[in-house]
Amino acid sequence: DSTSAPNFIRNQIREEVDVGKVDTIVTRFPPEPNGFLHIGHAKSICLNFGLAEQFGGDCHLRFDDTNPAKEEQAYIDAIKEDVSWLGFQWAGDVRFASDYFDQLYAWAQHLVREGKAYVDDLSPDEIREYRGTLTEPGRSSPYRDRSPEENLDLLERMCAGEFAEGEKVLRAKIDMASPNINLRDPILYRIRHASHHQTGDKWKIYPSYDFTHGQSDAIEGVTHSICTLEFEDHRPLYEWFLDNLPVPCKPRQIEFARLNLNYTLTSKRKLKLLVDEGIVDGWDDPRLPTISGMRRRGYTPASIRKFCEMIGVTRADGGLVDIAMLYHAIRADLEDNAPRAMCVLNPVKVVLTNVSEDHNEVFEVPGHPARDDMGTRKLPFTREIWIDRDDFMEEPPKKFFRLAPGKEVRLRNAYVIRCDEVIKDDRDEIVELRCSVDFDTLGKNPEGRKVKGVIHWVSASQGVPVEVRLYDNLFQVEQPDKDKDADFLEHLNAESLVTMQGIGEPSLAEVTPETRFQFERVGYFCADRHACREGHLVFNRTVGLKDSWAK
Ligand code: ATP
Ligand code: MG
Ligand code: MG
Repeated sequence: DSTSAPNFIRNQIREEVDVGKVDTIVTRFPPEPNGFLHIGHAKSICLNFGLAEQFGGDCHLRFDDTNPAKEEQAYIDAIKEDVSWLGFQWAGDVRFASDYFDQLYAWAQHLVREGKAYVDDLSPDEIREYRGTLTEPGRSSPYRDRSPEENLDLLERMCAGEFAEGEKVLRAKIDMASPNINLRDPILYRIRHASHHQTGDKWKIYPSYDFTHGQSDAIEGVTHSICTLEFEDHRPLYEWFLDNLPVPCKPRQIEFARLNLNYTLTSKRKLKLLVDEGIVDGWDDPRLPTISGMRRRGYTPASIRKFCEMIGVTRADGGLVDIAMLYHAIRADLEDNAPRAMCVLNPVKVVLTNVSEDHNEVFEVPGHPARDDMGTRKLPFTREIWIDRDDFMEEPPKKFFRLAPGKEVRLRNAYVIRCDEVIKDDRDEIVELRCSVDFDTLGKNPEGRKVKGVIHWVSASQGVPVEVRLYDNLFQVEQPDKDKDADFLEHLNAESLVTMQGIGEPSLAEVTPETRFQFERVGYFCADRHACREGHLVFNRTVGLKDSWAK
């Protein structure tokens, strides 16, 4: 496929399979349930589930739920829905890192007994200070040489809730002078007197990400533990735990470059701020790059999967993918698969003077120009119609092929009309155009002259009112969070949502939520999941018609 980019992990696994190094693969997608998934997560989902599909293996959905303070059941539900909607099925039940808390605790005791972990009384600030920097080795905590017996007892008491938060932590005893700071006695357990969405009040201590992740992979028999490049420096620690604990197998960690997309943000924390501050309409606002926002905007699962295939998987960090590529992916899908309809966003009335009041002609036109399977739709043609204000100019420039005084234009799927008269109100606003129809032009060119322009239109008596929400990029700049200290909220695009009251062709009246259309000459639209209902039609603009993606 010419639009697939290289995927080094897929190539690597194919090689391993070819030489018999692996038999069946197991991957996992491990979100923390502290927010909604975004397009960056989609990259990881397509990679992990895609590999399992391609090589006949399993992909697990595992919630990395070690930080109860920030996690919620609502996020768990949304994440499951998003993964399913993208078209992937996890193997077996949904899993939780918290399912392994008993085993992890037993392994912590194992390290303590082996003299490889200790309880530290230093405060969080002191621990940070003792840890040193890239250029300066760390210093040992005065509590580093506690005996295994004392450590076991203290760990049990931490677990029993005898100490306050921050009073003690459990640390691995590795190497305070390691050039890799992650190996300078990393924290295994913190005290948190918090209720957990899965385990309730059972635990007073919670394991760190590092102490949880690799062991959870090992418990599940994960073969390839794929994560983003920030975790490259954690890999020696990931392996240290697997080498020093009696785990059932040794998964391998492989890192890839995260997706960054211009004109938007791919950070849950920053997206959450936009939601919490009410800057957007919830996590599924169609302007957000969340999977549920993209769904509501009108993206198809296939277009998101296609996009993830197009961007490829590499270890080259720091690149910014052009959002035009995402727009290209959805546009290509909708071009082929969305039925057509006409909708006038900024209506001006046209009276067809040679059409009688009771004229009752109905055109039956294709649902899609290239898709017979999409059937036909009915377009009533009446004396009064709406056209878009932008399709008329009183004093047109030379190359304007739409309607103008004395000029002709074709009504899409119907006749050629000529503008005979412009009616204005007392403020000089155009209120009506009086035109005449050439009835000898249905499906054929007029005699002796060329009419170049075609415009869309809707019957005034039978069209249906529609609210149309035009979305644009949420930010005005390519990298709103480029400067670490700057406030990315300063770069918001004030015109990211423009609402119009338009008129749609009558076939739209019975539309169901999430139905997608090409509004001819206007763009691609999707009936809003929440707001669109009979009698109150609401459409979100997914993307415009013009492709600006340079291959
Ligand atoms: P965020 O930084 O947005 O909060 P996260 O990495 O903290 O993301 P997790 O829930 O831990 O969020 O992510 C689950 C998986 O998705 C991880 O394996 C992570 O590496 C991957 N992932 C997250 N963001 C991206 C991204 N922008 N591109 C590719 N993969 C990503
Ligand atoms: Mg994470
Ligand atoms: Mg994060």
